[in-house]
Amino acid sequence: MNTERAIIIGGGIAGLLAAKVLSAFYNEVVIVDRDDFPQRPELRPGTPQAFQPHRFTPRSRTILNRYFPGLIDELIAQGARPTHGVTTHLINPYGRMIAVEQVHDASFSRALFEWVVRRYVNDIPNVRLLGLNEAIQLQTAEDRSRVTGIIVRERASGERRQSAMTADLVVDTGGRFSKTAQWLSELGYEAPEPERLKISLGYSTRRYRIPPGRKETAQHIRMEGNPLTTSPAAALSIIENDIAEMVLWNLNGRYPSTDPERFEQEIRRIGNPLFNEALDGLEPIGPPRGFRVPELIRQRFDKMQRWPSGLLVMGDAICQLDPVYGQGMTLAAIEAEIVEACLQRQLSDPKPDFELEALRRMQDSIEPAWWLNVVSDLRWKGVEYVGSKPIQGLAFAQHYFDRVLEWSTEQANYDIFGLYWLVNSLFLHPQQLIRAEFIDFLLSGGGSGAAKEWLERWIEESDRPLEERLSATIPSFQGASFATIDELMAGA
Ligand SMILES: Cc1cc2nc3c(=O)[nH]c(=O)nc-3n(C[C@H](O)[C@H](O)[C@H](O)COP(=O)(O)OP(=O)(O)OC[C@H]3O[C@@H](n4cnc5c(N)ncnc54)[C@H](O)[C@@H]3O)c2cc1C
Repeated sequence: MNTERAIIIGGGIAGLLAAKVLSAFYNEVVIVDRDDFPQRPELRPGTPQAFQPHRFTPRSRTILNRYFPGLIDELIAQGARPTHGVTTHLINPYGRMIAVEQVHDASFSRALFEWVVRRYVNDIPNVRLLGLNEAIQLQTAEDRSRVTGIIVRERASGERRQSAMTADLVVDTGGRFSKTAQWLSELGYEAPEPERLKISLGYSTRRYRIPPGRKETAQHIRMEGNPLTTSPAAALSIIENDIAEMVLWNLNGRYPSTDPERFEQEIRRIGNPLFNEALDGLEPIGPPRGFRVPELIRQRFDKMQRWPSGLLVMGDAICQLDPVYGQGMTLAAIEAEIVEACLQRQLSDPKPDFELEALRRMQDSIEPAWWLNVVSDLRWKGVEYVGSKPIQGLAFAQHYFDRVLEWSTEQANYDIFGLYWLVNSLFLHPQQLIRAEFIDFLLSGGGSGAAKEWLERWIEESDRPLEERLSATIPSFQGASFATIDELMAGA
């Protein structure tokens, strides 16, 4: 394996994680981004989603803390809000749960988060950040079987000079602007049609200044969407520098307004006094800003017969998830771990098709994330899945997740609610929640009401043993990477 230079296209979260991992294997790692890298936490055109709220999951926090030791403390030192002990009101269609953060964590804007992570990466001696350079083409060996570098167009001056950069490995982390599918097709490779989930999602976020003395006691609120109503979902959290961010989101083209007055009206129309009380007395900083996600895209490069060596794809460039579930950075972090493991193995046991193998291993972990997104979003009328095969266990999983959420909320059972959340944030395997032992518990121990009735009916439909039926219904997610409860405790 040649390890002179690796080039990463895109210095977003996936690109920064890739740089951290690759820096241990390559003599030089260059991150090329079409944007200038801001010297302060600032928004930039290449990540137009960055004004919208970005939050951690326990999994992304665990992985990022490993790659960037002291990350939470550094975020807090730079102004992020420490969230240990902060109360969050979690409202779902069945009621409200109140969670008090038990771990050392923080809330922040995406711009602050990316800036702090970029500083860690910038401190790695063999990583170079090259802003204002856009990758416009892949360079390959004559027979096109190997990627040997990229052509970049410089954006700093008006000349827009083009130059070639050679590399032993090129990693595309260009996010939603990724051109890999197009470049491959131009090189004569046949990439399968991506899977798509047409969601027509709209976000609208407004920021507010919190008056002195109120930040300490301010609480976070999150109200999930309800597929049976047309009203938006909403969340309010506190980020750095005494700023509150209020977001509304909705599916199916019902985009929340970016007009200040209508935005405030939409909040009032939700009819939950918690939001109005929390916003009372806060001073808006500018109008709301919107972001739309017409569809989610999952590339299936792993299914290609031929794949050029020297090329990898990570992050949103390979799979864009529904931002509502806050899993995008988590998946990028899981992929970084997979690339790290594949490179380690490649050093000791080199394989000619290591890149395709890495892409396949990434897909093993994308599979449960994509499945959870599709299962959840297809509960909304009008959302459409376009893929080559049906979604396994769709109807059962939709009912099951809903019933578990309903049951845990009504019973105020925080253990089960926590389990539900850990599965839906990619920490634990879905089997931790969908298993015979747990169903027995719902039926005998504590279960009652709708969950119990529905489960009893489902079980009566067949004579097959429950365990066997569940494994035939729910995908096994073999090869996917998950964490354990022990890791959760260790990170607390
Ligand atoms: C509205 C919204 C809210 C979200 N909220 C959350 C959340 O709460 N939690 C979460 O985990 N995730 C969230 N996400 C997802 C998250 O933004 C991404 O999954 C995550 O940042 C990984 O993205 P990435 O690094 O692959 O791409 P990006 O962060 O989009 O970065 C891509 C980079 O590539 C550069 N680039 C693109 N093309 C080129 C080129 N040709 N040459 C050079 N540079 C190029 C761009 O300038 C940019 O810097 C949200 C997404 C959206 C849309």
